[in-house]
Amino acid sequence: MPKGQIRKALSGFYYVQDGEQLIQCRGRGVFRNKGITPLVGDYVEYEVEGNNDGTITAILERKNELVRPPVANIDQAILVFSTKKPAFNPILLDRFLVVLESFQVHPIICLTKTDLLSEKELQEIEKYKANYEAIGYRIIETYKDDPNLLTKMIPLLQSKLTVLAGQSGVGKSTLLNTLMPELELKTGIISEALGRGKHTTRHVELIEIAGGLIADTPGFSSFDFDRIEKEELTQCFPELFVLSESCKFRGCLHLKEPKCAVKKAVEEKKVEQYRYDHYLQFLQEIIDRKPRY
Ligand code: ZN
Repeated sequence: MPKGQIRKALSGFYYVQDGEQLIQCRGRGVFRNKGITPLVGDYVEYEVEGNNDGTITAILERKNELVRPPVANIDQAILVFSTKKPAFNPILLDRFLVVLESFQVHPIICLTKTDLLSEKELQEIEKYKANYEAIGYRIIETYKDDPNLLTKMIPLLQSKLTVLAGQSGVGKSTLLNTLMPELELKTGIISEALGRGKHTTRHVELIEIAGGLIADTPGFSSFDFDRIEKEELTQCFPELFVLSESCKFRGCLHLKEPKCAVKKAVEEKKVEQYRYDHYLQFLQEIIDRKPRY
């Protein structure tokens, strides 16, 4: 059975890349019956029917999958965040980080517009940068017409499936267009298809750039914690998770429990207060969430 990867989903068809060939496939009826939807990024087996048509017969095991956008087997997400206009928004960044951690997608933080910062603002950003790097996140910085953008980005993208995400108006399209100028037209079409236009809502496509694949996802700008249970939230804060192993009680939520290693570390300023505050805020959101039935 030939194998390939779904690169595009559109109007009930899946476009499977197998070497140089792109085969237009339908999903097999049995997937629908079982409630399984093939996703862009899936490695699949397919059956050839006619010239360039086929049917997907099996979906190989997924490494991970996102819901919005619906993409599977993601190696990393580049979170594009502005440092000015709009100002750097750490709580929004932490929200993205938490959701990505919960899906086991590796985040890379890309700070934009750093050329617009004053000396004082730059110092502030440097503090955040040092903190996120200490947690283990990789950070890259860029700005409009950055001559080194390609040098910074290409090694990150090679052989990886990357999801680009971030606030709107932070230079995400500029970034993408710089990476591949001829893409300018194409991303316009994708953005339109992904909700700014009215007709197609489920168009997801992987684009080959710099020896890797990128999913451009305008729909990825806001989401909540609807898949995270309160006991799992600590795992989405890597620096708190490491500490939580020393909490006295298993299942400690680091609220009022005695001998909590996380609270102790916050008091001793070994972890950043704002990260703990965000943890508490997200925990409250999860607790307040309406039960799912
Ligand atoms: Zn604790």
